[in-house]
Amino acid sequence: MERIAVLTSGGDSPGMNAAIRAVVRKGRHHGLDVVGVQRGYTGLIQGDYLSMNLGSVGDIIHRGGTILRSARCEEFRTPEGREKAVLNLQQHEIGGLVVIGGDGSFRGAQHLTALGFPTIGVPGTIDNDIPGTDFTIGFDTAVNTAIQNIDRIRDTASSHERTYIVEVMGRNAGDIALWAGLADGAESILIPEAPYELDDIVERLARGDRRDKKHSIIIVAEGVGSAIEIGQMIKEKTGEENRVTVLGHIQRGGSPTAFDRVLASRMGAEAVDLLLAGERDKMVAIRNNEITSLPFDTAFAMQHQPDMSIYDLASILAI
Ligand code: ADP
Repeated sequence: MERIAVLTSGGDSPGMNAAIRAVVRKGRHHGLDVVGVQRGYTGLIQGDYLSMNLGSVGDIIHRGGTILRSARCEEFRTPEGREKAVLNLQQHEIGGLVVIGGDGSFRGAQHLTALGFPTIGVPGTIDNDIPGTDFTIGFDTAVNTAIQNIDRIRDTASSHERTYIVEVMGRNAGDIALWAGLADGAESILIPEAPYELDDIVERLARGDRRDKKHSIIIVAEGVGSAIEIGQMIKEKTGEENRVTVLGHIQRGGSPTAFDRVLASRMGAEAVDLLLAGERDKMVAIRNNEITSLPFDTAFAMQHQPDMSIYDLASILAI
């Protein structure tokens, strides 16, 4: 194998640039040509390739987003689109591909391997919802962004002695809510993986009141439903005003944390080693702080589950 390609696909996440940098530089370290594909699978179909050298990934390790840009590509869901993509790769004499993205992107990657083209996935999403890996690139940054903003909300919550309800991202996973909730001492954390009782939330608020607490924060994972509606239900139960903040896409941007930069660097480099070792149809993962890999099929057969011990601990510590 003399030439490999790298692309970013689906929802972007902080740290993707650090992963691209690692693929390019580890590839160069092994004497490989590395090609960057722009806008995910769209660029793969259209042959939108960039030749990458050591300098083209300079000064990006600290930047959010992805210099290769990302996209969602409907054409890639068709056999014709995928055949076009493989033909393009072969014409450019590319021998392997690293796909940095979420589970949708990995399903696309699997189709490429089925067509005989070696592909390795690197998990990049703020949601941390990919089974088989403890962490995905971008999750730590998103949690940090969430808590920095929740800290600000807490300041004003204390001044006005109010209850604030904050909706965080995560799609169908509660990981961001769990980590942000524990890190911020939230009264209640609502995640899709655990049913919630409105009466329990209200009881926790009342307990806080009795302790003369000046503020209360309730974190809602977007997968649970609308924080605005939950805020309304809580208001009806307590008879008291509350304020709702939906943090939204600020959680997807920003400079990656040290954790995400290190994770992305380790994972990107591992993807190159796997391609060179003749591996394919696998995703890179981190388990117990060890970089490892597993077949896409094994990952897809598993179900992502957040660390519920964090949920239990947060519940105890919030009293
Ligand atoms: P993410 O990778 O963040 O989960 P998406 O689910 O939107 O994001 O997937 C990104 C892209 O991957 C899609 O736009 C599509 O091109 C491709 N893709 C997703 N699922 C499939 C699939 N089942 N078959 C082929 N391609 C897919």
